[in-house]
Amino acid sequence: MEQKKISYLRNRPLHSKYRPNNFSNVLGQEHLVSYFKRSILNKKIAFSYLFVGKHGVGKTTMSRIVAKALNCSSMHKYKLNEPCNECLSCLNVDLGQSFDVHEINAAMNTGIDNIRELIEKTHLSPVNSLYKVCIIDEIHMLSLNAFNALLKILEEPPKNVLFILITTNIKKIPGTIVSRSQKLCFLPISSKDLAISVSKIVWLEKGSITNKALLHILDSSEGSFRDAINIIDMLLTQNSKINQSACSFLLTDMPNSIPHLLLQHLLSKNIIRIVHIINYVEERQWSETNLIKHMKKILKEKIVDGSTHLTTNKYLVFIWQILLKYDSEFFLQERLSLFISELILLFSRTDSFSSINSINNKKTIPHVLKIQAVQIY
Ligand SMILES: [Zn+2]
Repeated sequence: MEQKKISYLRNRPLHSKYRPNNFSNVLGQEHLVSYFKRSILNKKIAFSYLFVGKHGVGKTTMSRIVAKALNCSSMHKYKLNEPCNECLSCLNVDLGQSFDVHEINAAMNTGIDNIRELIEKTHLSPVNSLYKVCIIDEIHMLSLNAFNALLKILEEPPKNVLFILITTNIKKIPGTIVSRSQKLCFLPISSKDLAISVSKIVWLEKGSITNKALLHILDSSEGSFRDAINIIDMLLTQNSKINQSACSFLLTDMPNSIPHLLLQHLLSKNIIRIVHIINYVEERQWSETNLIKHMKKILKEKIVDGSTHLTTNKYLVFIWQILLKYDSEFFLQERLSLFISELILLFSRTDSFSSINSINNKKTIPHVLKIQAVQIY
């Protein structure tokens, strides 16, 4: 029996194995931890919270801890500021078996029937708890009808029911839902917090990691704890000693020289070279998002540095503005091609850079770029 338990623990993904189970262990969200501790102590609980933030920064984890804290008998009895993780209520939430905590993922349950089913559960009084807690992850994926059904209950909330709505994209949520919820923003995890946490987990897993490899992982995970831990999980499966070459091989990252080279050719307006680099990036299926992110970083440094000629600087600002435009979810497909095509239009103008708006005028794209997206002009 004991052997089976050990085997199960070994097979658990690291992000699940090291998921924080109380407020103190939540990484990088101190402002929200103190907010919830005070709210629970003063019994000032809203009817609906909207957790907003990028993936892997602790939103779902926090929702479960809040659910445990609200219903933990020991916490209220002994006036603790953390859920005990030992009472029946806490254990049931951890095991996903609580009758009073309901969690659905809207990405897989988008319809009105899913929300109706959830709302029906709120009409029954809590079984062994003070609150019924409904956690809806990825809420921006709900259909319009499902949102309307949810809105009805948010307008007339039953007593002792709490909704925790979680999203990575608040722009896709109707304003009526947002305005009826307390919006709480989760921050990306700082590099320092992430570095300490990742190093500790590698040590607990009896591995080692070099500083360069650690920096590489922090850069790739962009403030997401889950992303960083998933990378560590993958690397430790291969070798307990993590170094930079292991990272580069497994993450299939593009070399740092690529964004520098692309920028160099953009400045010299060498279209053939630019197209070669874009093809090279696409053939290797390197992330367009990463390329755009690195170029933004380099450009910002160059502009702030101020050592370039004024005309070059203006051109850098133009490129940066166009990069910002394509660094959004709206342009998931062909964003690199769109970005480049817009720059080619910029090349075809004079060097006076009189107005950025004029780059949206209809222009003929050089034949060398067979870019479908050019039709939008
Ligand atoms: Zn408890």
